[in-house]
Amino acid sequence: MRDPAFPHRHLLGIEGLTPAEINYLLDLSDRYVGVNRGPEKTSDALRGRTIVNLFFENSTRTRTSFELAAKRLGANVINMQVETSSVVKGETLIDTAVTLNAMHPDVLAVRHPDSGAVKLLADKVNCGVVNGGDGSHEHPTQALLDALTIRRRKGRLSGLLVAICGDVLHSRVARSNFLLLLTMGARVRIIAPRTLIPSGVDRLGVEVFTDMTAGLKDVDIVMMLRVQSERMRGSFIPSVREYFHFFGLDRAKLGQAKPDALIMHPGPMNRGTEIDSDVADDVERSVIREQVELGVAVRMAVLEVLANNASAHNAAGHNAAGHNAAADSRQGLPGRTGT
Ligand code: ASP
Repeated sequence: MRDPAFPHRHLLGIEGLTPAEINYLLDLSDRYVGVNRGPEKTSDALRGRTIVNLFFENSTRTRTSFELAAKRLGANVINMQVETSSVVKGETLIDTAVTLNAMHPDVLAVRHPDSGAVKLLADKVNCGVVNGGDGSHEHPTQALLDALTIRRRKGRLSGLLVAICGDVLHSRVARSNFLLLLTMGARVRIIAPRTLIPSGVDRLGVEVFTDMTAGLKDVDIVMMLRVQSERMRGSFIPSVREYFHFFGLDRAKLGQAKPDALIMHPGPMNRGTEIDSDVADDVERSVIREQVELGVAVRMAVLEVLANNASAHNAAGHNAAGHNAAADSRQGLPGRTGT
């Protein structure tokens, strides 16, 4: 039986999750934080299972975090880095999914430069799929680890005032974060130059600011975003110097936030572009390293739940297209493979 507290086969985004499901993943993650801080950083929750990291976009941090999470659960891990530049992207994606599916992995952790690509792949496989970041769409494990970091420090998410600052337009981190934070009852402000604000974002329930001094006033959390130059087609910011002057987090701008406000960044940081080293390395207020630490625990929780749900799904005789093979054959239908 699938886990009744989180009955989904895949984690493709935060969109659609309930507060109870989010809390369930955070509670499980919390337990893994304890395991990771202990002397024996292993569990055998996924012993004998296979996790594949399938990355169509460069990443060291997220891939390492998923790899470590899988290993600490006792699973076998394979890393696949696929170049998308030299081949027809759609073809590679589906071909790779079908090939991997034939090897019976339990969970695929997938990163892809195109929004929606991970969902496309998830529709073709029997195993669980976790989105490790798709284009500028979603990055659910990042939002969960950010939420866990905030919840452990502040004791809650509900009622907090969170500012998400910088390149919101290109950021899957921002999108997953404001979906999660709003679902959990936090108030969200986004602060960005006009050119980096997605149109219609205010309709989602976030407050929009184009001035750091006004936007940071009395916030509990300052979440900075990386300027995603690789996703910018055209000129979105006049110069790094000017960007830092108006939107970079430094001591003076931070002074607007609450005195105990936390500083966050998903990494990798562009020091001197969106954040000053002085605040990034502030041991009292910056939780950037803790975010990295808690990321492993969150990915352990997600991999465990999805691997168990995948087993339940396959034991029930479903195939890749989500059809029940036994039921199909009773009705005289050919078993579909979803390929
Ligand atoms: N590591 C995060 C991501 O993959 C943030 C970033 O790259 O700016 O989206």
